[in-house]
Amino acid sequence: MGVFEMEASTQAVKTAYDSAMENFDLAADALNLSVDVRNMLKYPERILHVNLPVRMDSGHIQRFEGYRVQHSTARGPAKGGIRYHPGVTLDEVKALATWMTWKCAVVNIPFGGGKGGVTCNPKEMTQTELERMTRRYASAILPLIGPERDIPAPDVYTNSQIMAWIMDTYSMTKGYPIPGVVTGKPIALGGSLGRNEATGRGVYYTVQSAAEHLRIPIKGAKVVVQGFGNAGSIAAQLLDSNQAYVIAASDSRGCVFNANGLDIPKLIAHKEKTGGVAGMPNAESISPQELLALECEILIPAALENAIDATNAGAVKAKIVGEAANGPVTPEGDAILEKNGVFVIPDILCNAGGVTVSYFEWVQDEQHLFWEAQDVYNRLERVMKNSFAEVLKIYLDHKVSMRTAANMLGIGRVAEATVLRGLYP
Ligand code: NAD
Repeated sequence: MGVFEMEASTQAVKTAYDSAMENFDLAADALNLSVDVRNMLKYPERILHVNLPVRMDSGHIQRFEGYRVQHSTARGPAKGGIRYHPGVTLDEVKALATWMTWKCAVVNIPFGGGKGGVTCNPKEMTQTELERMTRRYASAILPLIGPERDIPAPDVYTNSQIMAWIMDTYSMTKGYPIPGVVTGKPIALGGSLGRNEATGRGVYYTVQSAAEHLRIPIKGAKVVVQGFGNAGSIAAQLLDSNQAYVIAASDSRGCVFNANGLDIPKLIAHKEKTGGVAGMPNAESISPQELLALECEILIPAALENAIDATNAGAVKAKIVGEAANGPVTPEGDAILEKNGVFVIPDILCNAGGVTVSYFEWVQDEQHLFWEAQDVYNRLERVMKNSFAEVLKIYLDHKVSMRTAANMLGIGRVAEATVLRGLYP
């Protein structure tokens, strides 16, 4: 466990689900939603808690716990990633599933919200152990998933190989290949071009829109990335190739800094080779607290929840915080950033590029007709920039925070669908 993780776990008073509920209430109040409608929308529809006995390479059986939560299917099948991490709890999965519901509605794709997770440390497991655990988990959640019901995707410490094993396990029970049961698959199994970089690319498009709104040029802007994984490194790469300076980046094992800008292609290669950003040549090592407090135009939290809270939000000097991660700022952290005039691009908008291209992948799988990469990028850019403009309009018209504005857009759309569907008597 890194220093940052230990601090985060002792200081976080509220859970991610508490934050999700609190943010729901703020938006529901702004939308004047009745208690009846809130009761129909707020809580998860279905929760599955599974036990996974897995044979480890030693021959012994280890028990893991996993979850799949469907928060809402009001607007379509549940959609959301699967996380493998030692910190996974039911509370966290419920929060992530709730955010997925509002996120799919913000970008107006016909999905509800879901999420899954297994409490495990994949860094300490072999490939064969990971495969056995994944297949066991896939068969345990089999009653819930399917292309028309609930479609998993990668999240923290899961990837396209894990999606391939889930697709295979599901398909074996049906007797024919069903690629549409998961997204974020390898291209060879019906994955979409552009899916791997979709979240980071979407972050880039919304940061571009925010910078345009605030009249901050991307060229020459200083950028800090907390969590140099899939989402964070791709956003960094796009900002770097558009002449911003990524001056600092971190992962669970270290933080690196160069006031003149890190060499991002070299940092990606260094992380691939060594497993982390630490030890990057021509960069100095700094602490996680120093990283968040750096002078910069753009800060991208792209690791885990609750990274910016009451204890450190006051130190943030960025003009724009682009939430690549889900729930990286607590409600208390939010209030401090708002008071200090920091422009926050909320997670359910900023990182919605991933689920948007997952939707494109699902459409391509269902139609057996595959698109070119540029086609995916063009459609993604349109969706992200239109959604940003819709949220910005609510922010300006209603004088609420960007987070409440995004929640108003998402929750408003889910409320409309829920009320139209009505209740089974
Ligand atoms: P990832 O596993 O590829 O990357 C996560 C990175 O965060 C890793 O480099 C890890 O070392 C680092 N990290 C972990 N703990 C840290 C800490 N305490 N301080 C600094 N760095 C730390 O995962 P990802 O897919 O990039 O997901 C990152 C975030 O983005 C998550 O919150 C996830 O829910 C969100 N997200 C991802 C996608 C997607 O499509 N990948 C879509 C939407 C949202």
